Parts: sequence; structure tokens; C-alpha cells
Amino acid sequence: MKQLPAATVRLLSSSQIITSVVSVVKELIENSLDAGATSLDVKLENYGFDKIEVRDNGEGIKADDAPVMAMKYYTSKISSHEDLENLTTYGFRGEALGSICCVAEVLITTRTAADNFSTQYVLDGSGHIISQKPSHLGQGTTVTALRLFKNLPVRKQFYSTAKKRKEEIKKVQDLLINYGILKPDVRIVFVHNKHCLQ
Ligand code: ADP
Ligand code: MG
Repeated sequence: MKQLPAATVRLLSSSQIITSVVSVVKELIENSLDAGATSLDVKLENYGFDKIEVRDNGEGIKADDAPVMAMKYYTSKISSHEDLENLTTYGFRGEALGSICCVAEVLITTRTAADNFSTQYVLDGSGHIISQKPSHLGQGTTVTALRLFKNLPVRKQFYSTAKKRKEEIKKVQDLLINYGILKPDVRIVFVHNKHCLQ
């Protein structure tokens, strides 16, 4: 028996957290709601396999936090397990963004109320910032995940039939409808291949 290399362990554990297109959308939406967003734009291209993008008008991510925003087990939501008693957010484990980075190419554009302009960060597979540049978006955060599961042939096979891909879109739509019911004050728009579905 051999111990698996750290990079393989990371990929396998990430693929247990991010299991599908709908699980990426769910994690990103929950982050947006945790950030106090009242407007969400969800865009998919090619059933989410080419691109998944969630844009919000929430509080944004401070430049100081950007270097760790996609590092696993970094979170702004709790400081220790005692805080679990008083949890008011969807997220708290600090695993979602790091896991998405491991199974897709991720860009994060964000701006807080205190910033003069937004910054777009390009992340690598372990959630480190590769590059950053100023951009033109308003307050809030846009997370873009490109080429989901490109490094996981088994999962790509799972979505190889048209029927399964369509089911996945339906699941995203149902998820958004559920959040719409749960949060009636939040505006949610869903676009697939440039067609508005809701
Ligand atoms: P968790 O939600 O468990 O804290 P994530 O990996 O989903 O972990 O996100 C890591 C951190 O990045 C969050 O704790 C939050 O501080 C920040 N973050 C992620 N998405 C957003 C967003 N849409 N708006 C503002 N901050 C965000
Ligand atoms: Mg989260």
C-alpha cells in the first residue's frame, strides 16, 4: 500500500465537495447571500462545463483577504468551533472556493464599499493568486469557474449524455427557485447560453 500524493488527495477531496455544476452554483450563491447580496446573476455556458458565473452586489472581499479567500479552511465566518453555536451563515468551513479552484479555472472580481475600483484575481489550482488587474465592476463579487472537471475524466463521463446535462440545468433552475422562495427580497436572474431562463 502507498500513501497518495498530497495533490491527489486534494483533488479527490475537492471532487467530493464539488460534485456537479449545481454544487458549484449552490456554493457560490450561498457565499453571495452570506455577503448580504440582494441581486444575483447566474450565467452558465454549455451546461456549466465551459463556464459558471455568479455575480452579486454583496459586501465584496477586502484586498487584505484576497490572498487567502480561496485557501482551504480560511473563512471570515467563524474563528473556532465554539462559534458554530451562533452560526447565521450558510458557509463556515472555508472549503468551497478552494475546492472549486482544484476542479476548475477560477477568476474572482470583487469590490468593497471602501474600494475605488474592482480587482480581478486569477487563481491557480491551490487557490493562490496568479495575477490581478483592475476592472470596471461595481460593488460586489463575481466568481467565474471555467472548464469544470477538466482534470476529472470520471466526472466528465458522468455528464456525457444530453439527458444528464439537461437534468443538471433543471436542477440549477430548481435550486434558484428554492432560494427565490427562501429569500423573496433577492433578485435572481439565470442565463444559460445567453438565454434567460427565469
Ligand atoms: P466559507 O463560505 O465556508 O467561509 P468559502 O470557500 O465558500 O468558505 O469562501 C471563503 C471566504 O471568501 C468566505 O468566508 C468569505 O469571506 C469570502 N467570500 C467568498 N465568496 C464571497 C462573496 N461572494 N462575497 C464576499 N465574500 C466572499
Ligand atoms: Mg462558502
